[in-house]
Amino acid sequence: MAKLQPDLHVKSIYDIDLDMLKNRSIYCLIMDIDNTLTPWNSSDISDELGKWVKGARDEGFKICLLSNNGPKRVERLSVKLGVSYIYNAAKPRRRSYQKALDIMGATYDHAAVIGDQLLTDILGGKRMGMFTILVDPIDEREFIGTKIMRWLEKVLFNRRPFGKGETRP
Ligand SMILES: [Mg+2]
Repeated sequence: MAKLQPDLHVKSIYDIDLDMLKNRSIYCLIMDIDNTLTPWNSSDISDELGKWVKGARDEGFKICLLSNNGPKRVERLSVKLGVSYIYNAAKPRRRSYQKALDIMGATYDHAAVIGDQLLTDILGGKRMGMFTILVDPIDEREFIGTKIMRWLEKVLFNRRPFGKGETRP
């Protein structure tokens, strides 16, 4: 059970104290994507996220995205953010974490794992002996109004009986 206990639990990545990490000689961040950086399956990068990543990089942090998702979205997001990435990571298996360390040229004691899932992100990080940070999933953090608007959009879109230019038979 100790392997499922994160070293730190914060609401979102924006609550992570980067100076605290530096004080622990941590300068590499292995980050989950879905529900940690973006809502589930979203390829949008918010201004807030873009700024945070740039800020962390300016502070000297190396970042590698580690996702169990397929190549397409992972690659697109990583290129947009200017960071390294690993897709089909099969977290919590150790191999992809080691690969992330190799990419960043670091050892486990200089890296932190950041993610929203205990059984994948955190467990894998703990097995590697890394510092682990759990965040609340973005979807649960989202303002309820946003969820209602999304649902409404979906309903309206799906219910639209005819496409553009089509007429009722
Ligand atoms: Mg996730």
